[in-house]
Amino acid sequence: MGKHHVLDSMGAAFARADVGEIIVEKDRPGQPHAGKVFVAVHAHLDDVPYYAAGLCAKLMQEGYTGYLVRTSNDEKRGGQSTARNILSNEQEHAKMARALGFRDTYDLYYQNHELNNISSLDIRGRLIFLFRFLKADTVISFNPWGHGEENPDHSVTGRAVEEAAWMAAVETDYPEHMEGGFAPREILERYYFHGRPGQPYNRVVDIGAHIEKKIDAIVECRSQGGGGSGSKLRAELARQGKRLPVLGNDDRTADREYIRQFLLDDDREYGKPHGLAFAERFYHIDQRRPSVSKVDEYVARNAVPA
Ligand SMILES: [Zn+2]
Repeated sequence: MGKHHVLDSMGAAFARADVGEIIVEKDRPGQPHAGKVFVAVHAHLDDVPYYAAGLCAKLMQEGYTGYLVRTSNDEKRGGQSTARNILSNEQEHAKMARALGFRDTYDLYYQNHELNNISSLDIRGRLIFLFRFLKADTVISFNPWGHGEENPDHSVTGRAVEEAAWMAAVETDYPEHMEGGFAPREILERYYFHGRPGQPYNRVVDIGAHIEKKIDAIVECRSQGGGGSGSKLRAELARQGKRLPVLGNDDRTADREYIRQFLLDDDREYGKPHGLAFAERFYHIDQRRPSVSKVDEYVARNAVPA
């Protein structure tokens, strides 16, 4: 672990840390991000809830408008027929997004676990359109170089986001978008999930104040993600004539308290070294530049009358 910097309310907002320093990002007062838009792109119902629900809740509280894109159709998860799995994941995705405060969701419905069969140009093109249409300033997704990533839906999605986030600004890519009124878009900030052990991270986000929202999101992930585990355990124990006091007296409480007790270990562990109750980790890339360029600055200092 390298040097630690704290990004506080006064915002070393332009601090760069893409080469090894770890910045601890705390809540900022007011709405410093008012008017800005982020697009979170995940593959499966439970990705954003586990990897980034705290960050998303924090950024929306600080003024961002958030949109959520799901690339797969989640047909393999849910324990029902393929068609029913697609439906239950779709419905839960909308509920989960509402619980976290997203303005809208987009489901791309590529076949679950088969994203590497999709043309990378197709998925990239759709994301470029969405980033321009939604006027994204910031994207949140999988680390595109994801060490240890075994799920192709994650790696394909991360790569496509990385490419689209750059190419959305290039006016010669999909010039018909301009004619349709969708201007090129510079996406200057990216937060990549810490998805697997060994993946790099340079930002630790304090999500202590947003943990209830994170639980709100996970509890909607019932087809996958363990959102219904508490009520299932409660019913199982009842059949055996037992109960766990920590699970409370109703199913909703059981689900929420199960999550708090058993499913947030990573967040606790990530917070510990920084004295935080809960944290999420990201590889953060900040490409915002000072408004005066090096050339302008040099000209201002050195130009003489001709
Ligand atoms: Zn996933």
